[in-house]
Amino acid sequence: MTQTYVDLHCHSTASDGTLPPAEVVRLAALRELTGLALTDHDTINGVAEAAAAARSAGIDFITGIEISAEYAPGTMHILGYGVNPESTVLRDLTATLLGGRDDRNPRIIARLQELNVAITMEEVEIEAKVPVATADGGEPKRKPIGRPHIAAILLRKGYVNSIKQAFDKYLAPGGLAYFDKERLSPHTALQMIHDSGGISVLAHPVQLKYTNDAQLETVLKDLVDHGLGGIEVIHSDHDQKLVEQYTGLAKRYDLVTTGGSDFHGTNKKDIDLGTARGRRIPRAFFDGLKEAIAERCTA
Ligand code: AMP
Ligand code: ZN
Ligand code: FE
Ligand code: FE
Repeated sequence: MTQTYVDLHCHSTASDGTLPPAEVVRLAALRELTGLALTDHDTINGVAEAAAAARSAGIDFITGIEISAEYAPGTMHILGYGVNPESTVLRDLTATLLGGRDDRNPRIIARLQELNVAITMEEVEIEAKVPVATADGGEPKRKPIGRPHIAAILLRKGYVNSIKQAFDKYLAPGGLAYFDKERLSPHTALQMIHDSGGISVLAHPVQLKYTNDAQLETVLKDLVDHGLGGIEVIHSDHDQKLVEQYTGLAKRYDLVTTGGSDFHGTNKKDIDLGTARGRRIPRAFFDGLKEAIAERCTA
């Protein structure tokens, strides 16, 4: 059988990507991917559109979500795959995560205003394309507003020369307008993903900013003890050495290996869908993940 490729980590306009879900799928087809998982931050609102587009395009699809957990000194992101969109636990989870953003974003904007940056919360909502009403006139779907939306405005208005500079100067830890958001503990995050019918995967372990391998392994082991199902091995932040190291850890702890680009459209200009640091993600990763989800559902 010929080798084909997939992408298991990407973002759409349902969170802080710049392409709508169906457009992400269209790009996946253009890149000749045979499998895709959409992993927007804190929401699955994009997956119905993406799943429908994937069906038409003949691309296999897995539902996903990416959530941030409490962790220092780096960031801990946990991917949830195969979560059930109808699950009440999932609904609670996304509502909690959006609440954390509602508390944080106005503080960032207020601080920016104090710094004489001309920006309003309303502009940020427009930037994030927060819908005012649904097509059928129902309650508008809430949407996670993230720092990349704020960064895009700072860039457009000329306060910074790049998205990266917006983070370095204002939005990242140590920046002039940095505020953290309320996060779930890693154990609660895992539990809620599992209770939503999903498999949990530690995203881009390098971003934990561990100081040595033993420290990484301690963190990983604790997550595994709480039901972690997989580890993201291929990612745009992982060089060859890390890919090999994480593959070794996956074997040792009997974890599913996943991989993705972390595509965000023009919010991350140097990342293309289906490619992570020049590396493609083998179809076997999709099949292994799918199998793990199926096993979980019958467990
Ligand atoms: P938020 O959801 O508001 O916490 O923002 C998280 C998003 O910001 C993710 O897409 C990150 O990849 C992006 N991000 C975080 N730090 C940086 C940075 N230093 N430069 C560019 N993007 C970043
Ligand atoms: Zn993002
Ligand atoms: Fe992430
Ligand atoms: Fe991501």
